[in-house]
Amino acid sequence: MPAQLIPEITFPGIQLLPKETTSSIPIKRLDGKVAIVTGGASGIGEATVRLFAIHGAKVIIADVDDALGISLANSLSPHVTYFHCDVTSEEHIQTLINSTLSLYGKLDILFNNAGVLGNQSKHKSILDFDADEFDQVMRVNVRGTALGMKHAARAMIAARSSGGCIISTASVAGVMGGLGPHAYTASKHAIVGLTKNAACELGRYGIRVNCISPFGVATRMLVNAWRVDGEGVGEEEVEVEKMEDFVRGMANLKGETLRVKDIAEAALFLASDESRYISGHNLVVDGGVTTSKNCVGL
Ligand code: NAD
Repeated sequence: MPAQLIPEITFPGIQLLPKETTSSIPIKRLDGKVAIVTGGASGIGEATVRLFAIHGAKVIIADVDDALGISLANSLSPHVTYFHCDVTSEEHIQTLINSTLSLYGKLDILFNNAGVLGNQSKHKSILDFDADEFDQVMRVNVRGTALGMKHAARAMIAARSSGGCIISTASVAGVMGGLGPHAYTASKHAIVGLTKNAACELGRYGIRVNCISPFGVATRMLVNAWRVDGEGVGEEEVEVEKMEDFVRGMANLKGETLRVKDIAEAALFLASDESRYISGHNLVVDGGVTTSKNCVGL
């Protein structure tokens, strides 16, 4: 059948965009929103702070690395502010949320991203399980995430405005075994569970709760683990390249390198109205690693 004779398909209530419009997505996807990014001083958090600010959000970096956090906030002032916050401390989290409310009058988005890997090298075997190290990893990754959810949700519910969005960084190690140290893997599985449970409870308030599970990204966390393993070769840039080579070698999706920007884009999607009906979801950003039969443990 010649193309011009194919009847136009229409659906009741759905309006097609005019031909010249290429996208319905606004240029500033977080315009007027207020966001907190924990672990926002470096790596995935830093990339997300930058992207959220570009998209019109007022962003609070919450981190324990004051030097990096202050320097990043100064470079993006006045849209970005730094607060020292150790996510393992309920007092710090409470002060962080209260300070955000005092500064901007509301909180729309919490990105629970602060995390630690633990000592990957020495305690890799369950036979060498270190209970203190386990507690420390769980304190930052799980307790920190749960406390963030608690106080962000309280602020969002008290505001009585519909909505609010909580995103946490899990990991491919929260999807399957063999991709990280034991404590880290347990902590990231817990984040996926917390996300689902909190989403069930908070849906009635219009609050969406999701998490993101990245595959390996050559941030400080991974490069430092590489150094602990004695693989580092000295200069950081060279080590980032080596780390990226290593991750590319394990990847399922060839021809691409996973970078912090890719995870920040996933966070932007989950924070924006484009995902307004998505909740309880684990957005896996792994190029298919966790669904591939070729997946190999780290
Ligand atoms: P990173 O080390 O660059 O960033 C982690 C940030 O968290 C740092 O700025 C650090 O100072 C901060 N932080 C650590 N403990 C804290 C605490 N108690 N309170 C507040 N801030 C604290 O590493 P990254 O790779 O960007 O890690 C960010 C998140 O991504 C983590 O949750 C990590 O588990 C997760 N993740 C990373 C990868 C990866 O390959 N890099 C993969 C999957 C998941």
